[in-house]
Amino acid sequence: MKESFIIALDGSAASGKSTLGCALAKKLNCLYLDTGVMYRAVTWAALHHHIDPTDEAAVSALAETIRLEILPPNENDGRQATILVDGTDITWEIRTPEIDAHVSLVSSYPGVRAVLTRQQRDIARRGSVVMVGRDIGTVVLPDADLKLFIEASVEVRARRRYEERIARGEPADYDAILAAMVRRDKLDREKPISPMVPADDAIIINTDNLSPEAVMSRALALLEEALSAKKERA
Ligand code: C5P
Repeated sequence: MKESFIIALDGSAASGKSTLGCALAKKLNCLYLDTGVMYRAVTWAALHHHIDPTDEAAVSALAETIRLEILPPNENDGRQATILVDGTDITWEIRTPEIDAHVSLVSSYPGVRAVLTRQQRDIARRGSVVMVGRDIGTVVLPDADLKLFIEASVEVRARRRYEERIARGEPADYDAILAAMVRRDKLDREKPISPMVPADDAIIINTDNLSPEAVMSRALALLEEALSAKKERA
């Protein structure tokens, strides 16, 4: 595929959007950015610096000053990218229940969103990209060539998260994961700015009964359609 393109992939936690995004970017040989890691990194930095996550002014000021780097994976331990904050590798530290519990609040702060949205748009200017998040199709890249909104039932998503934690050898409690996910979904959907909603022109894919391969071929077919429609319009 020679022409440059932007794919916006939104959806709830553990819906399968990052697995799809990463595989698509590999197949299409383009940049992949999971924007969730950026909100997680700011949350990690706040906790690391003993800043109260409810202190909106302090967390927003911190988002302006930290140096966030998202690099290709430097270890073969299942990571999709290596995440550094001010030079410290926090790739796995941003995946804890503690970060899960605070990230929706931190990501509701307009100051934090402004900083990260600007960085995300700068990254999209570098060339073809698959960008994954909650508000990519609605706010960050509303002119994306293809917008997909990935859904799955909360029970299926909690089961996936539980199995990921077990596979990493971490303690996991399905009921606690499910309860935390229900809470985070509610906060993400009801955020006053950039809530998690499909863009009007997004195509919704439910992954409950679809294998990652089936989701991938659906997405590739939709991209092809979107790009030929774009060519016809040009
Ligand atoms: O996708 P992930 O679960 O890693 O995202 C973590 C959190 O970051 C989400 O629950 C959401 O509150 C926030 N987020 C956001 N906007 C994005 C990506 C993530 O508000 N574009």
